[in-house]
Amino acid sequence: MFIDNALRVDGLEISLDDASGQLCFVSHAHSDHTEAFAKKRAIIASEETFCIMGQEPKSCSLPSAIRMAPAGHMLGARQLYAEADGERFAYTGDFSLHDSYTCKGAKIIECDTLMIDSTYALPHLRLPPRSQTIDKIRKFVLQNDHCIIVFGAYAKGKTQELVKLLNVECGIAPIVSQPAAKVCQQYERFGVRLDYEAAGSPEAEELMRSSFVAIMPARMVGFDFGQRLSEAFGREVKTAVATGWANFMRFPVDASFPLSDHADFKDTMRYIYGSGAKKVICANANQEEAAERLRRLGIDACAKSKLGKRQKQAILAGCF
Ligand SMILES: [Zn+2]
Repeated sequence: MFIDNALRVDGLEISLDDASGQLCFVSHAHSDHTEAFAKKRAIIASEETFCIMGQEPKSCSLPSAIRMAPAGHMLGARQLYAEADGERFAYTGDFSLHDSYTCKGAKIIECDTLMIDSTYALPHLRLPPRSQTIDKIRKFVLQNDHCIIVFGAYAKGKTQELVKLLNVECGIAPIVSQPAAKVCQQYERFGVRLDYEAAGSPEAEELMRSSFVAIMPARMVGFDFGQRLSEAFGREVKTAVATGWANFMRFPVDASFPLSDHADFKDTMRYIYGSGAKKVICANANQEEAAERLRRLGIDACAKSKLGKRQKQAILAGCF
């Protein structure tokens, strides 16, 4: 077994969330992980991920040494696990340990080498309790029921989570953009019941005669957009975002809610310790800083980007 950009096991070489090889594991459908679809590589992914990417699922017979496991985060997100020659390897991709409205949280996989998403693996990146954030969203929506409320959220994953939250907590069917509505249809195909209307449909037009809640692409939603919408509809508009980053940076909106689909610092550390891994490879954002910090804690850690030739040889020689 060998790790750099690729995992070598049972004669297969599998790229992990990049398109550098011919056979690629795509952990989930967010665009920073799906280059392999654009480059038409052979892909290992969940059925849900294929469908969200607009493709019919391809049955890929994985060798028995490899399996996928739920990763939380969004519908279809998976971890990859491999076992060979008595060594165990796990790769999380983006993950969350908490259950959400639309998917179950990831299970911690026991392994010898762990490649983990280190986006939130720094001590200042802690999120408040999820129940507290949900409570704040519910109060905000109900207190502003005379207004048009527009949430900014990305179309894959966060929009569906917000739709379900608004359905369950506020009894509201929001209007969503057409690309997000297509993703909602895939969620429904896999059993996640969502109540929403697609922008441009007669049902959405009807909702827009009075106060309504909409979920739009985050890049569009801000004070200017709110102002234009208010002038067009002659009604007060409140803008909001729902993202983990709301805890750490400011957005030009009326309300920011740190509703995250990632493991924060606490949960990332919970995974690292819970896995029992002897070696940790930090992947994605903040990897060098996170690895440095883990080393200070006495954990054998390195950044994925820093895996040089010598380390690769060391891994080959049996670091696993
Ligand atoms: Zn993601």
